[in-house]
Amino acid sequence: MVTVTELLQKAEQIINSSENARLDAEILFCEVMQFNRSRIYSHPEQIVPDDKSTLFQSLIEQRQQGRPIAHLTGKKEFWSLALAINKDTLIPRPETELLVETALQMIPDDAILNILDLGTGCGAIAIALASERPDCNIVATDINTNALMMAKKNATTHQLENIHFYLSNWYQNIPSQEFDLIVSNPPYIKQDDEHLSQGDVRFEPELALVAGADGMQAINIILGNAKQYLASNAYLLIEHGYDQKQLVHEAFLKHDFKQLKTFQDLSGQDRMTMGNNQIN
Ligand code: GLN
Repeated sequence: MVTVTELLQKAEQIINSSENARLDAEILFCEVMQFNRSRIYSHPEQIVPDDKSTLFQSLIEQRQQGRPIAHLTGKKEFWSLALAINKDTLIPRPETELLVETALQMIPDDAILNILDLGTGCGAIAIALASERPDCNIVATDINTNALMMAKKNATTHQLENIHFYLSNWYQNIPSQEFDLIVSNPPYIKQDDEHLSQGDVRFEPELALVAGADGMQAINIILGNAKQYLASNAYLLIEHGYDQKQLVHEAFLKHDFKQLKTFQDLSGQDRMTMGNNQIN
């Protein structure tokens, strides 16, 4: 017989590799028990049933080996929306919420715009935009069937009917149309980047992270074809690495985009760039 408190103390010691061992243990415990976090503290002496305790301990062992919390719970919160994720989708990051915020500043509340999200993964950006701007028509693509399934499932969970999903290698399968805004969080990590062997990214899909020797492969494809899909004066907003501002600006300029603007994330790092498809 083991109590809530005892089980959590043991788990925290086992995980110890993670900075947030206690928090990780609590999140996983609450997932297994379907508890609110406050219940851990209001019922510390409660006995945990054997089957739950066994399941919890197997999750703790996986966490100890580095598996991301989001993979163990199968979900991640993004823009205050609970999103289902799996091993074929990137785990949505708080930095990308900034991309949503920046995009929303471009879209008046009652605008009826066509928006394209390239490489949607679990649907994070498309779903956040669709929920904030119900009158906009959103198209979201991904090359991976399992990722797209997750994105569709998330759109259904949040009862969003203004997103159309396409299985597509970037623009390839998108029906011809003009978008007022294209957004993307593409893969942008260099293939020999040391971060790929650290933390959560070790368990995330390479396809969603890595983009050739300079990390620019996907961004170049997106920029190279964007004009065929953008209305006149429309915008393209793209997330990129903290050290890619220069390369991204050059790529935007090469394809004749104007009014380039780079935005920083909350830690002050360059994180996304926007350009305008000015035609005159
Ligand atoms: N921002 C992610 C990271 O640092 C990478 C996401 C991406 O490549 N789109 O791990």
